[in-house]
This record gives sequence, C-alpha cells and structure tokens, in this order.
Amino acid sequence: MKQYDVVIIGAGAAGLFCAAQLGQAGKSVVVLDNGKKIGRKILMSGGGFCNFTNLEVTPNHYLCQNRHFVKSALSRYTNWDFISLVAGYGISYHEKELGQLFCDESSQQIVDLLQKECAKGKVDIQLRQAVDLIQKVENSYQIQTNGEIYQTEHLVIATGGLSMSGLGASPFGYKVAEQFDIPVVPVRASLVPFTWKESDKPFAALSGISLPISVTNRNKTFSNQMLFTHRGLSGPAILQISNYWDMGETVEIDLLPTESIVDILAELRQSSPKLQLKTVLSRYLPKKLVELWIEQQMLKDQVIAQLSKNDLQFLEQFIHHWHFLPNGTEGYRTAEVTMGGVDTDHISSKTMEAKNVQGLYFIGEVLDVTGWLGGYNFQWAWSSAYACAQGILEK
Ligand SMILES: Cc1cc2nc3c(=O)[nH]c(=O)nc-3n(C[C@H](O)[C@H](O)[C@H](O)COP(=O)(O)OP(=O)(O)OC[C@H]3O[C@@H](n4cnc5c(N)ncnc54)[C@H](O)[C@@H]3O)c2cc1C
Repeated sequence: MKQYDVVIIGAGAAGLFCAAQLGQAGKSVVVLDNGKKIGRKILMSGGGFCNFTNLEVTPNHYLCQNRHFVKSALSRYTNWDFISLVAGYGISYHEKELGQLFCDESSQQIVDLLQKECAKGKVDIQLRQAVDLIQKVENSYQIQTNGEIYQTEHLVIATGGLSMSGLGASPFGYKVAEQFDIPVVPVRASLVPFTWKESDKPFAALSGISLPISVTNRNKTFSNQMLFTHRGLSGPAILQISNYWDMGETVEIDLLPTESIVDILAELRQSSPKLQLKTVLSRYLPKKLVELWIEQQMLKDQVIAQLSKNDLQFLEQFIHHWHFLPNGTEGYRTAEVTMGGVDTDHISSKTMEAKNVQGLYFIGEVLDVTGWLGGYNFQWAWSSAYACAQGILEK
C-alpha cells in the first residue's frame, strides 16, 4: 500500500492545478487518471488554442443551484492570477472576442505549464489507473486501482463531467458522491448545439453558413454568431443559450439584431420601390437562407412597393422573432460541459471539502457549477483547485 498526504483522482485542469499547489507546498501528492495522457480536454479545448480564462469573470457567468457558492473561490484565485502564471511561463496569448483569452500557439502550452508546475512540486502522476474501489477506514481513504492500493487522509475528486467519453469522461465522481451520501443535482449536456425537428430539416442545406444573431429565452439573451449545421443550430450564441434551455422550450432568434427590417423596407420603398424583397433581404442576410425561405414557400418574393401592412408585420416577426423549437441537443457527444453535478449545498465553498465527510473534496466540473462559454469553465477549474489546496494546507 502506498501512502500519500493527498490523492487526487483526475489529471485534468482542476486535478493537475490542485496537485501542483499542494506539491509545491511540500505535500506528497499522487494524481491518478484512467487515461494514457494528462489534460486531454485541455488539448482539445478552444479549437486547439485553449481559451484558458476571460478578462471579465464574475459569479454571474456561472450557473449553480446555490448562486453564492462560486464567489469565495473565484475571488481567492482570480483570472488575473492565472494570466500572470501564463505570462510567467512566457506563453503568448490574445483576446479573441468578449474577453476570451487564447494561447497564440497551442493548448499544449497550458498542459506543459501544468506538467512543469507539478514537476516543481514533485507530484507523482500515475496514468492508466482505473479506480475500482474507495473505502474509508477511520480517518483515511484507501483507493484501489487496477495495480495498486493508495492510502491518504485527503482524497480529491477531480474527474470532471460526462461530455466526450472518448476523452476519459466518466460518471465516477457522481458515484463517489453517492457512496458518501452526497446528493448529485441531475446532469445534462450543456454548451451544446440544438438539433432540428423534422419540419426544420430543410435548413440542413445551409450547413456551414453562419450569421450574427441574438437569441433569447425566458432567462437570458445572447448576441453572437449562429451556425447552421447538418443536424441543427450551433455557434457561440446557441451554445450559450443551451446553458439556460430546458427540453421542450422555444427560443426566439433575431436574425438581424442590429437593424430593423421594417425601417429598411420603409426607406427603400421610397428610394427604390421596384426592388424585389429577395434582393433586399439578401443584402442583409445570407443569400442562401433567403433563397431557401422562398423555395420552401416560407416567404413570398415580390416587389417591395407591393408589400402590405400585414406583409410588413409578418416580416418583422419572421426576421426578428423566429420562434425556434429544438428537437433536442447533440448530447454529451459534442457538449463542452455537463450541467448539474455534485450538490454544492453539501460542499464547503471555501475549501471544497464535503461538509459531512472529512477529508473528501470535489473540484472542477464534477461539481454543480457550469460556466458560460468563454474560458469560464477553466477558470472554475483553477479557482476551485486553488481553494481546495489552500483548504488542505490550512488543516
Ligand atoms: C471540446 C471541448 C472544448 C472545451 N473548450 C474549453 C475552453 O476553451 N475553455 C473553457 O473554459 N472550457 C472549455 N471546455 C470545458 C473544459 O474543458 C472543462 O470544463 C474542464 O476541462 C473541466 O476540468 P476538470 O479538471 O474538472 O475535468 P477534466 O478536464 O474533464 O478532467 C477530468 C479527468 O478525470 C479523468 N477521469 C474521469 N473519470 C475517471 C476515473 N473513473 N478514474 C480516473 N480518472 C478519471 C479524465 O480522464 C480526465 O483526465 C471544453 C470542453 C470540451 C469537451
């Protein structure tokens, strides 16, 4: 049996960052992971450039049943702390949009940073470790893997959510919570594309076309790009609203959020009354979208001088208030995150330790904390990992 001050399960963003803090403070730490490589989601993230944090991070960028839970950790290890760590490693980065910070070269740089930070703390990283059993014996935990038994007084669960099982995702963290009678808030795929219902399938022909939109539901509005895909709607605006969307709910899409189609037509009816509606719409919207509407008889092409008041009212609704009912989502196959997770009412917001189970900690995405698109989920991984490490060091 191998003895460590801390055993961390999960060599992703949160697990590695927590391990590095603890190791550098002199604790003996082992990180166990079921995969062949560390930080596999980091490597895939941000299209290969890792959107590692955001210039503006507030608790409002997170969803959690207890909306106060994230405050303490986010204020103790901030986006600026991680930015200075990145800069300290000489990693150059850029803001893409909306404060989102990406590596200039590659996500590998963030994985290398974490690996070096762990090496500084002499962290033992053990890969291909499937954990079979966890037992609590008095104040210590015994963790049995396929080849070894580890013993510790501090067990940190950093096994992430369910999205992308090909990258090692598993429900392991939720099972550990249940083993120790900690509730799990029901989980679902989030930051995820919507799929077409049967009647919307003609839009699949527009796959690859994107346009700036504004999407609204009863909770929120997001303005950004929307992308038509073979299977539905995607792009940042759609992924963002998916965090706030419930099955069976309609979302309202404004396809021309910065203009008013009625004003445009009113002006052109004076200056160029003989223009065709199709020509006018194609100036402001993707031509293929306008053609598809006409082909599918969703819209009638006509000379704009002939548009009646009713026609104008219809166009206002059609362009600015598209009521879109998704069939569902693409699910965990393509989702960036898992909504729900270990119930934060049972976790200390200061130390990430389970309130009723001494020495058991949960960090990162396994918790019921979901960030917006834009670097917020990694920031949660760094901040919750730091809070946990400080909690263990202060014991
Ligand atoms: C394609 C994609 C792109 C993304 N891009 C971004 C982005 O640019 N910015 C952003 O902020 N967020 C992004 N995210 C979300 C972000 O990757 C996660 O929120 C973040 O990685 C969570 O960190 P974590 O350490 O909690 O979990 P993970 O990084 O998922 O790490 C969990 C680790 O636990 C291991 N594990 C799981 N089960 C077991 C088990 N039973 N035994 C042993 N080990 C186990 C896994 O192999 C994994 O290594 C993206 C997600 C995806 C899927």
